[in-house]
Amino acid sequence: MTQFNEYRGNTGLNTGVSAGEAAQDPGFYIQCRDLFKIYKRADLEVVALRGLDLSVEAGELIAVIGASGSGKSTLLNILAGLDRPSAGQVLVGSRDLLDVSDNDLVMYRRSEVGFVWQATARNLVPYLSVADNVELPMALAGQPAKARRAWSDELLESLGMADKQKRLPYQLSGGEQQRVAIAVGLANKPPLLLADEPTGELDSENADNIFEMIRGLNRSYGVTVVTVTHYAGVSQFVDRVVHIRDGRIGSETFSRPDYRRDGGTVEEEYVVVDPAGRLQLPAELAERFRRGGLAKVQSEDGHIIIDPPGANPRQHRSRS
Ligand code: ADP
Ligand code: MG
Repeated sequence: MTQFNEYRGNTGLNTGVSAGEAAQDPGFYIQCRDLFKIYKRADLEVVALRGLDLSVEAGELIAVIGASGSGKSTLLNILAGLDRPSAGQVLVGSRDLLDVSDNDLVMYRRSEVGFVWQATARNLVPYLSVADNVELPMALAGQPAKARRAWSDELLESLGMADKQKRLPYQLSGGEQQRVAIAVGLANKPPLLLADEPTGELDSENADNIFEMIRGLNRSYGVTVVTVTHYAGVSQFVDRVVHIRDGRIGSETFSRPDYRRDGGTVEEEYVVVDPAGRLQLPAELAERFRRGGLAKVQSEDGHIIIDPPGANPRQHRSRS
């Protein structure tokens, strides 16, 4: 079996970051801490990410879900090295993406990440065959023809596209085009695959198919995968679903390690508490704080209990 670029996260720490505070936790391949992205347009500022915390282990497969405009694509573009963060920390492998040179960022995009876009047409060169599309990134990286062919064959085989290698993209269905796009993304064996709504233009059967294949590649090659999706059925294919709200991770849902394809997963949603102790409540709970107000926090039998305003009128009245 082909080995992907080895995870190099723990071998050398980044330069230019103060020791201690920015040190990477061993075991994590991606580490975002208090990450901010602010878009400035004329006199308008849009805070797309506001203090996002996220850690992803090497070889993990996670899905990011959230409402439109919540910052999902912004996060993915930063992880892809296509956009630069404004503040905070984002470490991927041995790189600090807040403090990386332009040249290094180009190298990072070329060798460390594969990217799959939602729009099928954006992923493939229309006048190249399926096989040539997959081989193109390898050719640009200077791979010899024989190695290119062998790896392209193996990838297309595992994506169920072996018999369609000579076709042009327009001769494929949307689902097939996305499968080829995944092969293109993995052509240079990056340790990280990012996909922004890869099934956004597909029906649920095709979406299942794509996630099933992503799952298979993740398991066979150990490639770390972060995928953004609206697809409600994604949780059965991934290790963890992170819910992004207003540019922060609000909660996470873990599928049990004994993952089963037949839907036999047990899911629990956990609210994320960041290192500063901040948390973002799930939407239905947050609704009870919509006009602000004080909550009563107490600890009981190892559980932390938060009473929203009005939950215990006597206590809240005594504050005013
Ligand atoms: P999502 O992918 O979750 O729908 P995005 O990450 O695309 O959300 O956008 C998050 C916020 O940042 C939105 O308010 C969006 O309008 C804004 N935004 C995204 N990209 C830009 C940009 N290039 N310039 C200005 N604002 C942007
Ligand atoms: Mg988006």
